[in-house]
Formats: sequence, C-alpha cells, structure tokens
Amino acid sequence: MAINLEEPKKFKPLVGQAHQVAMNMLRPISRKYDRAEHEYPKELDMLAAMIDGLSESGAGEGAGAAGVRRDEKKDDGGVKNGANLASVLSIAEMCWGDVGLLLSMPRQGLGNSAIASVADDEQLQRFEGVWAGMAITEPGTGSDSANIKTTAVLDGDEYVINGEKIYVTSGDRADHIVVWATLDRDLGRAAIKSFVVAKGTPGMRVERLEHKLGIRASDTAAIIFENCRVPKENLLGSPEIDTKQGFAGAMATFDNTRPLVASMAVGCARASLDLTRDLLKQAGIEVDYDRPAHLQSAAAAKFLQMESDWEGAYLLMLQAAWMADNRQPNSLEASMAKAKAGRVGSDITLSCVELAGSIGYSETELLEKWARDSKILDIFEGTQQIQQLIIARRVLGLSSAELK
Ligand SMILES: Cc1cc2nc3c(=O)[nH]c(=O)nc-3n(C[C@H](O)[C@H](O)[C@H](O)COP(=O)(O)OP(=O)(O)OC[C@H]3O[C@@H](n4cnc5c(N)ncnc54)[C@H](O)[C@@H]3O)c2cc1C
Repeated sequence: MAINLEEPKKFKPLVGQAHQVAMNMLRPISRKYDRAEHEYPKELDMLAAMIDGLSESGAGEGAGAAGVRRDEKKDDGGVKNGANLASVLSIAEMCWGDVGLLLSMPRQGLGNSAIASVADDEQLQRFEGVWAGMAITEPGTGSDSANIKTTAVLDGDEYVINGEKIYVTSGDRADHIVVWATLDRDLGRAAIKSFVVAKGTPGMRVERLEHKLGIRASDTAAIIFENCRVPKENLLGSPEIDTKQGFAGAMATFDNTRPLVASMAVGCARASLDLTRDLLKQAGIEVDYDRPAHLQSAAAAKFLQMESDWEGAYLLMLQAAWMADNRQPNSLEASMAKAKAGRVGSDITLSCVELAGSIGYSETELLEKWARDSKILDIFEGTQQIQQLIIARRVLGLSSAELK
C-alpha cells in the first residue's frame, strides 16, 4: 500500500470548516479564557452542538477525538483515508485557533478516544455521546504508567475502585472519566484495565483544579476514588488478564491518541508561523520560499528552517494517522509523530516569540500564549524522552526490560 502525502480532496471541506471555526469562534475568545482560568468557555456548547450536527449528517466524519476507532471491516486491499486522518487534519486546524479550547470541547476528550479505541460494540453504543476525561497519572506515577497503584476489585457485579489520579484534563467538566486501575498488582502491567466512571458516582470526587503555564482554558483536575463502585460492564474491552499480551490492550489507546496530540502541536506551531510571517513582512522582511536560505536575512533563514521542521512533523502526523486508518501497526510511527511534533512545536512557538521581539513577548499578540500552550504537547500522552525511548526500543528490537 502506498501513502499519498497530500491532503485528501474529500477532507478539504472538513478542514475548511474547522479553519473557519478556529478563526471566527476560537481565536476571538482565546485571550479571554487564558485569563479566566477555570471558567467554563460557555461559547463551546454551541460549537459542540454544531459538531454533533455535522457528525450526525455524516459530513463531519472523524471531526474530533472520538473518531479514532479502527473498524473491523474486512480489508478489501484498497487504501483508505478514514476517521483517523480526518481527525488529525481537523484537530490541527482547531488548534490553529486554540489548543486549550480544543481540549475543552464537550464530548471530544481523550477518554472518548480511549473508548473508541478499546470498547466493544455494546460499550461503544452505551457510551455514545458521553464526554470522557482520561485518568492515568497518579502522584507517584507519570511516565512509568505500568506502575499505577489504583486498584479495581470485583465484588459481585461491580468493581470497587480505590486510588488517586492527578492532572486529568477535563476532569471536572467531563461527564465521565476513563480511569486506569489494576486488577492485581502482583500480575504487573497485564492486569491494568480501564474503567468508565460516570460523574456523580458515589466515591469519585474532584479534589482540586491545577493552575498552569498554558492551556489555561482547559480544566486539569485531581480526582480521588474511595470505594467507588462501577458496574462490571464498565471495564473496557476484556476482563481477562493475558500476561502474554502484557500492556498491549491499554497501550492501543496511545497508538490512536499520540497522532492527535501531534496534530495539536502541528496546528499551534502553524498559528505561530503564520502570524510571525505577517509580522516579519510588516517589518520589511519577506520570506522567499524559492531562494536558498543562506541568501536571505538571518530572520528569513531561521523562518525557513522552522518551516522544514514543521513539514517533517506534519508528514509524520499524516503517516501515523493513515496507518491507523489502514489497520497497520503504528506504535513506532505514532511515537515518532508525537516526538517530532511535540519538540518542534515547542521550538517553533518559542522561536517565533524570539523573532518577533517585544511584540512576541507582549500580550497584544497571541505568540507568547502559543509558546506557553505548546509545551504541554511535548509532555502529556508520553513525554519527549519517553517517545524517544519507545522509538529506540522498536528500532533496536529491545524490550522495555532491556532498554529503560
Ligand atoms: C496540563 C496537563 C494535562 C495533563 N492531562 C492528563 C490527562 O488527561 N490524563 C492523564 O492521565 N495525565 C495527564 N497529564 C499527566 C502527564 O501525562 C504526565 O505529566 C506525564 O506523563 C509525565 O509524567 P510526570 O509528570 O509524572 O513526570 P515524570 O514521569 O516524573 O518525568 C519527569 C521527567 O523525567 C523524564 N523521564 C521519566 N522517565 C524517563 C526515562 N525512563 N528516561 C528518560 N527520561 C525519563 C520525563 O521525560 C520528564 O522529563 C497531564 C499533565 C499536564 C501538565
């Protein structure tokens, strides 16, 4: 199967719509919710209703984080541009508008991606239309997610969940939380399963909201589970502990969500590049894409180098999503996309602040905000260092025990 690295024609209307929404609905409220941290961006309700409408009409296939399921249809040998590709393209456009607001969109949480990735058909139907946050990180466990301490013990027809989760994006606003817990700590990573917990379930409570460097429009919550009982049908996927499969079940979520995070970085960096090119032009510096960089001013040469970094991230993002659409194993490519986009996203947004000088640092423009917002995209869903570790293991053919 060959990949065509151009934006598929069939997604042009979707990308165009997402760009309009980003420009006309997200940008105008960007600064407002950067300043009003923890205040719910009520304007998003109308936007979410519009996106629901698009999805129902079929026009919005994959327009958001919930569209990352790998369908089980028989492979007819054809090449498919599907929901994963549509999602990364539309999310990049929305993040050209505002990453924090995109992360606050009702029903588009990372928990929705987890449900789409791991749920069986019955669960998919039961949880349709929910807004789900994703709770993996704990006070003692971040990158080493195989070491989570939160437990789920079967008691009759229910699992009883106990533990503490921190830094849960949309943890307060979402109506459901997908929480990772272990069925048996002695059995290691294979015993880790994800559970869907509805807001209001006794035993689950939001302890506090965090104050942050960037994505301030997005709420980030610490959540306590104390004898929290959920129906046993809320365990996503199979309850079997398959030690041979190891962590693979839970990790499948990341193969779908890492390209999405890459797309957020791609979108935010694009915003910085577009504005900086305009500011340079106003200052009399024209970036000429057809002339060698060393024949242009230092600022233009720097800009061209950033463009090529951006292009690399964009292409890796397309590749990882396209592979998911075509049911090819993409763990390596998902990590490569996330690593490249996370890193160059932070570099580009900060370099744009630098190139624009005092305007870049000032709140009159959004460049300083984008530099703050983009940093998280190199941290959550696996940091830069963790992506590099995963890539090295895969390239060298080493296990997690062999390369730590
Ligand atoms: C705003 C925000 C939103 C978040 N949203 C969510 C969410 O929705 N759900 C959720 O579950 N979590 C979320 N997180 C948590 C995030 O996923 C973790 O912060 C991240 O995985 C890193 O874990 P940690 O903070 O414990 O850092 P650590 O794991 O302690 O790492 C600290 C540093 O050490 C490096 N490091 C760690 N291990 C290695 C190694 N083996 N080799 C080399 N370097 C290493 C890391 O790369 C990092 O630079 C969020 C965090 C933030 C800040």
